Amino acid sequence: MLETVRKIIKQSNKIVFMTGLGSVVECGGRDLWSSDIFYDIERKYKMCPEQLLSAGEYSSRKERFYNFYKKEVISYLPKPDETYEIIKALEDEKRLEAVISFNIFGLEKLAGIKNVVEVAGSVYDNYCPGCNKTFDVDYLLKSRSIPVCDECKKALRPNIRLLGERVDNDLYTKSAIHCSAADTIIILGMDLESTKVQYVTGHYKGKNLILFAREERFGDKYADYVIYGNIRDNIKEAVR
Ligand SMILES: [Zn+2]
Repeated sequence: MLETVRKIIKQSNKIVFMTGLGSVVECGGRDLWSSDIFYDIERKYKMCPEQLLSAGEYSSRKERFYNFYKKEVISYLPKPDETYEIIKALEDEKRLEAVISFNIFGLEKLAGIKNVVEVAGSVYDNYCPGCNKTFDVDYLLKSRSIPVCDECKKALRPNIRLLGERVDNDLYTKSAIHCSAADTIIILGMDLESTKVQYVTGHYKGKNLILFAREERFGDKYADYVIYGNIRDNIKEAVR
């Protein structure tokens, strides 16, 4: 199947990539939903990652929210690997329609990729809800307890989508437009069963929905082609 996928990619000039946690893990990031980390967090915090990263937690228990967010999320920032270099090279060759990122780790922008839609937001974008001043991730890490704006002293907000918040319709519309323009969609390490993913891919008219996955999932049946194994190794084989 890899050979077929390689031929398809070679002939594609409007590729949309969608990046999930599978590729983040290969860049040294953490999947809070993988069973060992998930149970470790439940044990330590007496709550699951969903609850700890929810809008309710942020609005009413900021200290606990930031304690978790700083220790378990932004203390483990992944760095882009060869997968992202390959995507960047495709953009330089003008064969990339866009990358739609479904994770919060900003790997695409770190790799220098320009056309990125971050539907879940990014840990690198933080702002003051009072005066809109922006802050980098180090500012949050260095702050004691709740990070506050150095000008108006309001608690800062990481620009990531928290559970229980409405999705950003503009970003989803943008993503859907990219998918309808794509000749090929390449999905890296994501569950295709997710309704958000289905909404976006539902606008794709082609027959080349290719999934690179580290493990089997029920939603894999929605892909036209599935390549299992290490994503980076398989992408290197498929895009050359
Ligand atoms: Zn402020």
